Amino acid sequence: MTQTPSARFLIVGPQGSGKGTQGVLVAEAFGVPQVATGDIFRENVKGGTELGKRVQAIIEAGDLVPDELTSELVRDRLEQEDAARGFLLDGYPRNRGQVDDLEAFLSGRGESLDAVIELVVPREESITRLRQRAIDQGRTDDTEEVIANRLAIYERETAPILDVYREKDVVVRIDGVGTLDEVTERIFAALATRGLEPNGSDAHGRSAGAA
Ligand code: AMP
Repeated sequence: MTQTPSARFLIVGPQGSGKGTQGVLVAEAFGVPQVATGDIFRENVKGGTELGKRVQAIIEAGDLVPDELTSELVRDRLEQEDAARGFLLDGYPRNRGQVDDLEAFLSGRGESLDAVIELVVPREESITRLRQRAIDQGRTDDTEEVIANRLAIYERETAPILDVYREKDVVVRIDGVGTLDEVTERIFAALATRGLEPNGSDAHGRSAGAA
């Protein structure tokens, strides 16, 4: 029944890897907020806020919102009370500049990421899932052309940030192909091997011994 003292996570994977869904499950189990920059931007676009107006065209093209704006948004969010013991970042950092911003922010508070969950999904599989999501959710950035742009940016700018975290030995590499439950179980088992377990209750029936 030991409580993990801190649970600062980042989930990384290509669009369509299921990281949004898995990220919510991990965040819920550990009792920390999920902070997904894409969701925050989309809410602002929908709500017609100043921020929304600034980022709308960028998001629709599948390009990246400038680092300064994105990093400030995340810092503001992580300074809120509910993120004091931990958080799960989804979709940020997305390039080296953002990694530097995040690391500067965290180290200024004497903190660091406890685990970076890397969801590995082959490109073809991501594309298939994104096409399905386009049908299911009607997201304006799930068109063929924009999907290709977003995946290219992922491969060029986001995937390399994993090297930074590999050096810090915090990356857990998860095979993202399988059913939702299978992938969830892999994630919890891998976190458990690093001593990272949800508060007392084993929400997913996993224990360190099962890994
Ligand atoms: P996502 O839902 O994570 O795929 O994000 C949707 C869109 O929001 C991206 O295609 C970008 O335009 C923008 N976005 C989300 N997170 C970031 C970030 N960390 N840096 C820059 N742009 C972002």
